[in-house]
Amino acid sequence: EQEAWGAVRNQQTISADGRHFEVAANVGTLADMEDARKNGAEGIGLLRTEFLYMNQSRLPSEEEQFRAYKQFVAGMNEKRVVARTLDVGGDKRLGMVPLPSEANPYLGFRAIRIGLARPEILRPQLRALLRASVYGRLAIMFPMVATLEEFHQARAILEEERAQLSSAGIPLAQNVELGMMLEIPAVAMMADIFATEVDFFSIGSNDLIQYLFAADRGNPRVAYLYQELHPAVLRTVKRVIDAAHAEGKWVGMCGEMAGNPLAAPLLMGMGLDEFSMNSNQILQIRSLIKKMNTRQLQPLVHRALNAQSAPEVAELVRTAIPELN
Ligand code: PEP
Ligand code: MG
Repeated sequence: EQEAWGAVRNQQTISADGRHFEVAANVGTLADMEDARKNGAEGIGLLRTEFLYMNQSRLPSEEEQFRAYKQFVAGMNEKRVVARTLDVGGDKRLGMVPLPSEANPYLGFRAIRIGLARPEILRPQLRALLRASVYGRLAIMFPMVATLEEFHQARAILEEERAQLSSAGIPLAQNVELGMMLEIPAVAMMADIFATEVDFFSIGSNDLIQYLFAADRGNPRVAYLYQELHPAVLRTVKRVIDAAHAEGKWVGMCGEMAGNPLAAPLLMGMGLDEFSMNSNQILQIRSLIKKMNTRQLQPLVHRALNAQSAPEVAELVRTAIPELN
């Protein structure tokens, strides 16, 4: 089986009925990018920028960040690199950005909430990313956006930095896509409106599922509530994909669910455009997608959306696609 996956390393991910799905990698270091290339990633669907800030005694300068981002953007050779602005808080702490101690860190001061409150952190990061944009194909996304106002504020900061760099004569790509992580149920409910404003969504299933079930993603006592295949998750994902497609926008997923072979047929059938995962899962998911026909998956998707539980969905998928057993 490993050998069969190897054969699809340098191929595009085209389903049996001719639809292209992008299978991309989640990357947090240069070594991860090497793995992504070795495994034939069609892009970087999530560049976690936290590595630049971890184990440092001070914030990375704009220049240090620029040099780092340039390596990723150039290293992927015109394949899309979706960089996420700093996503700390929740379970991720940073020495040089002291965060308040909170009763519920996952519901507290994290991600874009910090970025908007501390523009001295967000602005240099955006400048560095924009400067790196000329070396390949960059997209930028904001983590944990909850409201349109937050998206507008973050975008306004990006536009200010872009205007300043331009007027200083610094070369910038004109085609930098701007999107957001979709990780909060309120955003899924408003996805039709957000879809008119963004270039794309990337579904962060790890956080989205914890917020849908109100179950801390790191707490083993409530881990039984963390169910990727639950119809509540599938309905939410479908709603987001349909809303984005109605506006001609693309949707990716960069949470763990994107690399789950039992979820992949459902995500394909619902029309997810991009799957971003740890590189070691790429070849398996690609070979699975290549065997499946999106039209033939429709009855399975329909049954899964109308099922009552995650185990029932798992059983439906295994029955429809025996090779997953
Ligand atoms: C997610 O929430 O699914 C995600 C990809 O972000 P992180 O796991 O870094 O919170
Ligand atoms: Mg997240």
